[in-house]
Amino acid sequence: TKFEALGLDKSLLDAITDLGFESPSEVQEKAIPILLEQDTDLVALAQTGTGKTAAFGFPLIQKIDKSSRTTQGLILSPTRELCLQITNELKAYSKYEKGLNVVAIYGGASISDQANQIRRGAQIVVATPGRIKDMISRGMVNISKLDYCVLDEADEMLNMGFYEDIKDILSNTPDEKFTWLFSATMPREVSTIAKKFMHNPQEITV
Ligand code: AMP
Repeated sequence: TKFEALGLDKSLLDAITDLGFESPSEVQEKAIPILLEQDTDLVALAQTGTGKTAAFGFPLIQKIDKSSRTTQGLILSPTRELCLQITNELKAYSKYEKGLNVVAIYGGASISDQANQIRRGAQIVVATPGRIKDMISRGMVNISKLDYCVLDEADEMLNMGFYEDIKDILSNTPDEKFTWLFSATMPREVSTIAKKFMHNPQEITV
């Protein structure tokens, strides 16, 4: 299979060519057509290094309304390093998208700098749970109009004790959104999150 067959726009295909990706990885081949064609929740069992960032990133970038400045997509990730890595990847994938802003928010850096970046309009926010919870409670980030929420490395986030924070964050989002959960393993805590916050998710395993 080639990327052209998955239904991606030319702006994304051009960025993929620049990155030198020749063909989709297994998780990309399985997830991208589902996420592009259907409005659905998704549970994906995938290890790191399988190309999962692009598996949710390409559909997210394509589906976001770039003419609106509202925060429409939120990606939660367990660590500052992963948060920055995802943000850099999404910036590379969206290099030909006009007017799309991706902002990283994570602990251990200036909260006011991050709030300023959000204020300029970020359609996609990539965040660690503790910092975004703090910024939501201070009115610095508004996720009440969210369309898509990605829980990346859900098992790691729960291992790190973020269950209450995630519950808190999700309770600030609309019910009528789509949640895409990626996890390397499926312990009981992850199924609990899926049952509590997701509606009939499609499931893929790689
Ligand atoms: P991830 O699992 O998302 O952390 O991705 C692992 C690495 O593979 C990252 O450096 C990506 O840039 C790269 N990558 C993702 N998809 C592809 C692909 N289809 N072909 C080649 N490299 C890829």
